[in-house]
Amino acid sequence: MSSEQAVLSCRDVHKVYRQGRSDIEVLRGIDFSVAPGESVAIVGPSGAGKSTLLHLLGGLDQPSQGEITLLGRLLSALGNRERGRLRGTHLGFVYQFHHLLPEFSALENVAMPLLIGGVDTAQCRASAADMLERVGLGHRLEHKPGQLSGGERQRAAIARALVHRPACVLADEPTGNLDEDTADRVFEMMVGLNQDLRTSLVIVTHDQRLAGRMDRIVALSGGALSETQPG
Ligand code: ADP
Repeated sequence: MSSEQAVLSCRDVHKVYRQGRSDIEVLRGIDFSVAPGESVAIVGPSGAGKSTLLHLLGGLDQPSQGEITLLGRLLSALGNRERGRLRGTHLGFVYQFHHLLPEFSALENVAMPLLIGGVDTAQCRASAADMLERVGLGHRLEHKPGQLSGGERQRAAIARALVHRPACVLADEPTGNLDEDTADRVFEMMVGLNQDLRTSLVIVTHDQRLAGRMDRIVALSGGALSETQPG
């Protein structure tokens, strides 16, 4: 696949962390692409560098070597402001913990990416309400995060990641903090929404069962990535 077609792509990506006086090379030449609408699970043992790779793909950190492109734009060639703008427009993020702002309602939290993007307030609220409806929280618009259950908070976080219709959602153990039944329901909902909205999805998970629901599974080990078969 050429990088022009890919939503996200990395070529020969290395990441070295300085730890005291020694260097740890966590990623050793990663080549990886995500096609439009494709879902990919990144699996691997704890400490293998999965979160590191997701951060690099999301433009939240920079590789020590190699290139990462988002919709054909080379991230390292952009200034901080432009990289932030590109990330805010085309990517959505979901984490293990919801990171909703406690003092704001579900509606305000979900509207936030649009407000930051300069969309007018009425439109932000309408789009946020629509997305909350899609995740089954149409009856919880004015609830604050502290008044929602764990599963509801994570659904609100997913609504926030999708409200601006990004090209790709990057999710780091998005159901890792939920009990198994709730995790299954939240995961199904996320997969369904990504299919409906034709959003690509890159998910870091240690759960092989959930990983098996993705189009592709890649395994990270020893700093290298290899394709494995789903199921
Ligand atoms: P995973 O998500 O697969 O559990 P991480 O990407 O979080 O792995 O971490 C990979 C390795 O890099 C670990 O050994 C971790 O200690 C190290 N590491 C992660 N972030 C940093 C950092 N900011 N500084 C130094 N070492 C780090």
